[in-house]
Formats: sequence, structure tokens, C-alpha cells
Amino acid sequence: MSTKPAVFLDRDGVLAVEESYVCEAERLKIFPYAKDCVDKIHKKGYYAIVITNQSGIARGLFSEEELWKMNRRLMRETGVDAVYYCPHHPGGTVKKYAMKCNCRKPQTGLLEEACRDFPIDLTGSFIVGDRAGDILTGKAMGIKTALLESGYGSQRLEQNVEPDYKLENLREFAEILDDRPKNDTVH
Ligand SMILES: [Zn+2]
Repeated sequence: MSTKPAVFLDRDGVLAVEESYVCEAERLKIFPYAKDCVDKIHKKGYYAIVITNQSGIARGLFSEEELWKMNRRLMRETGVDAVYYCPHHPGGTVKKYAMKCNCRKPQTGLLEEACRDFPIDLTGSFIVGDRAGDILTGKAMGIKTALLESGYGSQRLEQNVEPDYKLENLREFAEILDDRPKNDTVH
């Protein structure tokens, strides 16, 4: 595997419709344009890696096995390179997962794990999400951040964050990727 930057993608609101808890693989509504966008990201020379908080597991709403079904579907139907997820939540009801961890966004544990598994060049890497936590994760890792309106949207941000890009959806992100000089970040 060659060293290249990555686009870290949130799942719900980015690759699939944002619904508070998707509990079954069949119910995951992948955006019809998701595969095309992942193809573009790959063609432009980036890994496409999903980083997702799935506290529904800690809350007892679905099992890790069910999530694996969703992950396999997501990989098959969009072509992303990998899916990293956090099953934890400190207020969870399933003992095994009810804890404070270092992988739930805005913590950076999942990105660090991806960087151990893939030869990722963080310079030039992006995180794309629909929530404040995604943007904060990106900032903590020192990578560029893009906030999409296709999920919860900026009107519903839990906290004020300043992403480098505010875009409508992943299609728009795939378009602007590489369109700008690498050091063109807005702070
Ligand atoms: Zn976690």
C-alpha cells in the first residue's frame, strides 16, 4: 500500500441518510451518489475511510454483529477501504460497552487506529461529517475539515465549530477535493 492522504468519512448524514439509530443492515439508506463519490476520492489519490460513532450498541439497540452486517454492506456498496466504529457510550446500558473511551468522536482513537493500519499521510487529509464532533476530531488531528448539510446540518450543530469547508453533500466535497491548493485552509 502506498502512502497517501485519507478522507475520513462519517457514515450517517454523509454516506447514508441520518436517522437517529439505524438498527438493521437492511434499513441503512445509502445515498445513491455515495459510490460515485468514493470512486472520485480514490481516483484523486486518497483513501476513503469511515469513522463512525455507533453508541446504539452501548445502548442495547443493536449488536456488534448487526453493525458488522451494516459495515460489510457499506463497504460493498460504496467501495470505502475500511470502517472504524466506536460502540461505546458512558451512559450505555450494556455493561461491556458502557464506558468512557478514547475512540468516540471527538476523541481521536479511531483515526489513530486507521493510521496504524494504513500508510496515511495526514498532511492533506480531510474529515467529512455533519456534526460538531466530526469537525473537532479533525481539528484535534490537525487535518482539514468539511461540514455537510446532508445530515443534521449546520442549523443543528451541538456546538459552534469552524470547519474549513461548509458544503451541501458528499457530491460537492468530491468536486472540490484537490480543486484548491493544499495550504488553502480558512481559520
Ligand atoms: Zn469508543
